[in-house]
Amino acid sequence: MSLLWSWLEIISRCIEIALLILVGVVAVAVGFAVRAEKRTRQQMREAARQSRCVRCGALLGEEALALADAEWAKMRDELDRSHFYRRYRMVRTWRAICPGCGARYSYQEATRAFVLLPDEPPRESS
Ligand SMILES: [Zn+2]
Repeated sequence: MSLLWSWLEIISRCIEIALLILVGVVAVAVGFAVRAEKRTRQQMREAARQSRCVRCGALLGEEALALADAEWAKMRDELDRSHFYRRYRMVRTWRAICPGCGARYSYQEATRAFVLLPDEPPRESS
């Protein structure tokens, strides 16, 4: 009886320690992910301040990032409203929209530069 209880106690302690380690690892991983995202956003802002649109020559600036964020939020809201009962996965390709002509740009982290995306066909409205 006492041997069984001591084994149960040991197993229980091991599970507690494993859970504490798991929580610590997750917290550190989340911290790294948040820092990486902040760094990428900062690099994008710096690149946008120095980049011009290859179509119209307008400065992209932070307005281009804000336009892209607003467009993304609007698209997600539309999808949430029309498909609220579904789960879906979206991949964001554009990170900047030219304030002058509406050209869309992706962001290349390796080169810290914006790359013009081909025009998308107009979306069908439902
Ligand atoms: Zn432009």
